Amino acid sequence: MLNRKVLISIIAGILIVSAIILYYNVNPGDSVIMPKCVVKQLTGYDCPSCGVQRALHAVLHGEFSKALSYNPFFVISVPYFLLVLYATIFKNASAQKVRKYACHRYAMYAYIVLFFVWWIVRNIWFKNP
Ligand SMILES: [Zn+2]
Repeated sequence: MLNRKVLISIIAGILIVSAIILYYNVNPGDSVIMPKCVVKQLTGYDCPSCGVQRALHAVLHGEFSKALSYNPFFVISVPYFLLVLYATIFKNASAQKVRKYACHRYAMYAYIVLFFVWWIVRNIWFKNP
């Protein structure tokens, strides 16, 4: 019988691979089935994650400049998310070093502050198409 942690990892892996396959094959900008941003629909303002679906679709097709135009904060955040994921999953010495810096509370606080700064900045200087 699988223990709980292995089962959760398997389910998470299946969900991540399914999402990657979905976002590779469906362009969220052209599709009516993909979810639309509630914040944008209610207020007219972009939320911090507006454009993430289109950016993910563009990244999966190797179109990094297009992805940057949709949501540069997301594209810049991906390496950080991958580091945190690596530090969370693996327990070896290099993962512990990564965890020490990437998962440090100041790194997390900085990311949260940048997230909200990005929210304000994007609605002043960058309007999402
Ligand atoms: Zn949004």
